[in-house]
Amino acid sequence: MKLLRHGPAGEEKPGLLDGDGVIRDLSGVIDDIAPQTLGPATIDMLRALDAGALPAVPGSTRLGPCVGNIGKLVCIGLNYSDHAAETGSKPPPEPIIFMKANSAISGPNDDVRIPRGSVKTDWEVELGVIIGTEAKYVSEADALDHVAGYCICNDVSEREFQAERAGQWTKGKSCDTFGPTGPWLVTADEVADPQDLKMTLDVNGTRFQDGNTSTMIFGVRHLVHYLSHFFTLHPGDVISTGTPPGVGLGVKPEPVFLKPGDEMRLAIEGLGEQRQKCVAD
Ligand code: ZN
Repeated sequence: MKLLRHGPAGEEKPGLLDGDGVIRDLSGVIDDIAPQTLGPATIDMLRALDAGALPAVPGSTRLGPCVGNIGKLVCIGLNYSDHAAETGSKPPPEPIIFMKANSAISGPNDDVRIPRGSVKTDWEVELGVIIGTEAKYVSEADALDHVAGYCICNDVSEREFQAERAGQWTKGKSCDTFGPTGPWLVTADEVADPQDLKMTLDVNGTRFQDGNTSTMIFGVRHLVHYLSHFFTLHPGDVISTGTPPGVGLGVKPEPVFLKPGDEMRLAIEGLGEQRQKCVAD
């Protein structure tokens, strides 16, 4: 099942994508796709609905982030062996964790606003993991039971803010619109193996990232387990699990960064695609 949120920013309504690719409105059934509706009971109830009987929504309707009221957006750094190599970094001995401010979260096709003073805005296609039930001190064996589903995240990053401006990565990761999330939450039952998904990112039609979740250093199962030993993962929390090679910073001989007018297209196998245009903030 593919769950989504449609409508103007801040006024999104719940919906799903039916088998014919038509958006169906769920606002007569649940309030939102949000922490309180991500547990198995609600997911099972939605799955039992006759999607064809739900109101159709025009395909041109804006999509919001596929989960509302995300409690925290936890990101994993340098989590692909081939990406670590391209940045000249050693693979980390344990997951590198950082947080992206919730205020950065945006819809999958919303414009990405390049912040004032930015000269190094960059892209990162990532597999997003959406928590469905509370996870605290969970074993690796049980970890995937806490996952409601998966989505695409673009971990947009300002490299100068991130690495050359002193202090942690947060300031280069949290600018407004630096967290496109969606287009839909694909429920976990439809993702046979989260460690075998092709993922790509194109800028202006040129392919820069062409990877697969199989080269993750720490897989989804380990990440949910690992993070749950530092803080409780709540329903609606999202883990953005790191990016494969091909970020702008790694392009040889000269890095490539985003500028107003550029268009990104991101795709992950089975999870749909995102398209963002860059504009000046
Ligand atoms: Zn990232």
